[in-house]
Amino acid sequence: MPDRFIPSADGQPAWPDSHWRVSADAMTDAGPLTGEQHADVAIIGAGYAGLNAGLELAEVHGVSAVVLEAAQPGWGASGRNGGFCCKGGALLDGAAIARRHGPEAAAEWAAYERDAIERVRDNLARYAIQADAGPEGEVQLAHSPRAYAALQADAAADPGALCLSPTELAERGLHGRFFGGVQTPAGFPLHPLKYLRGLVRAAQGAGVRLHGDSRVTGCARAGAGWRLTTARGSLLARRVLWATNGYSDEALLPWLSGRILPLASAILVTRPLSPAELQAQGWTSQIMAYDSRRVLHYFRLLPCGRFLFGGRGSPSMAPAAQAAFRQVLQAEFAALFPAWAGVDVEHYWSGHVCLTGSRAPWGGAVPGHDGMFAALGWHGNGVAAASEGGRRIAAALAGGPNRAPALLHRRPGRVVPRPLRPLALRVGMAAARWLDGPL
Ligand SMILES: Cc1cc2nc3c(=O)[nH]c(=O)nc-3n(C[C@H](O)[C@H](O)[C@H](O)COP(=O)(O)OP(=O)(O)OC[C@H]3O[C@@H](n4cnc5c(N)ncnc54)[C@H](O)[C@@H]3O)c2cc1C
Repeated sequence: MPDRFIPSADGQPAWPDSHWRVSADAMTDAGPLTGEQHADVAIIGAGYAGLNAGLELAEVHGVSAVVLEAAQPGWGASGRNGGFCCKGGALLDGAAIARRHGPEAAAEWAAYERDAIERVRDNLARYAIQADAGPEGEVQLAHSPRAYAALQADAAADPGALCLSPTELAERGLHGRFFGGVQTPAGFPLHPLKYLRGLVRAAQGAGVRLHGDSRVTGCARAGAGWRLTTARGSLLARRVLWATNGYSDEALLPWLSGRILPLASAILVTRPLSPAELQAQGWTSQIMAYDSRRVLHYFRLLPCGRFLFGGRGSPSMAPAAQAAFRQVLQAEFAALFPAWAGVDVEHYWSGHVCLTGSRAPWGGAVPGHDGMFAALGWHGNGVAAASEGGRRIAAALAGGPNRAPALLHRRPGRVVPRPLRPLALRVGMAAARWLDGPL
């Protein structure tokens, strides 16, 4: 998938120009896989899903695992996201899950979402990871009066939800161009790359072997297991986990082709804002916030005083289109936070999230591929969900039952054939923007 990795001058995948990269402690590169190696389990992808799976295998199941990463750990979405450790992971709400899969599946998924947040909290505590965790809860902000009415109606069924008028939002330091909001208590923000690197250190300490610059380019049956090939080595393993999410190479795993839909998400981070600048906009809270648009924006004030503003990226996944999308995102930021319209943006980057044909994550066995599993499709909300997903799938990788909730066992159906993707994304995004109305 050469188009997915932007090579740097030395031919290695380049890191994005993210605020996280410059504000996390440096980490020594993990060396590549060389020669022929063996493991019980091979994990492809060193993001939250792959690393949590490796940790669970080592610590709970006593199983040897090797993680192969095309770039370096955290190079994918796990090192470049907004740091919202929150509920989510599926595009289906509780009612839709109950309709499609029954009320038990809906209740089980709701419990999974809560467990996933607690999993991250536990990881931070257990491995002593300093990841700048912020205040509890999140607030969804209405982009229109109609949207506020819908949020209020939903909130009526949630005893933990608190409806906030524009005046009440302003009193809480949440003033922007919004028509009201609903605050819920679950989740907390964190520094995504500090969390990721803490997992790397924990995994290495637990005996998980980790190789960077080791893109898997071949995957073939070998006896009772699989042989994964990289540029400089090969790995023989009884079982394999694809934890590659929005960076999955569908040519390597043809069964997956057309069943996932990688999408871009983009983020800008301003320079530090002074207390007077924060007051001028009326935004002083560090709570996680997002709006009610279909093409949603997510934003939060960072502990260092910078403001992070994210949204859907360009519908074209081409690197040049992603870079050019900066102007669009900056214009949207200025429209919602007019007092900061002229503030310098220090960093802008984008990355891939992953939708699936079932509108839910997938954590299960790959059909027709004995011993091969996947944990992916977190629908833009994987800080918590992918962490927990990696943990749950580990039992199956160790030869036991799959502990993922029933919703994740369902294999994704086809979403859009790959050749039609660019067109589908352009049309879908344009329609969603039109339905949202002007900013
Ligand atoms: C800009 C942005 C903002 C986001 N904001 C949030 C947020 O605030 N909150 C939230 O919950 N979620 C957010 N997400 C989503 C979240 O980051 C992801 O769901 C989560 O990180 C997925 O983790 P993962 O381990 O499944 O995949 P990833 O972290 O994407 O890791 C997959 C890895 O697989 C590797 N890989 C792929 N192919 C191969 C191969 N052939 N061989 C070896 N390695 C390979 C890639 O290099 C990559 O490092 C955001 C995503 C983006 C892009």
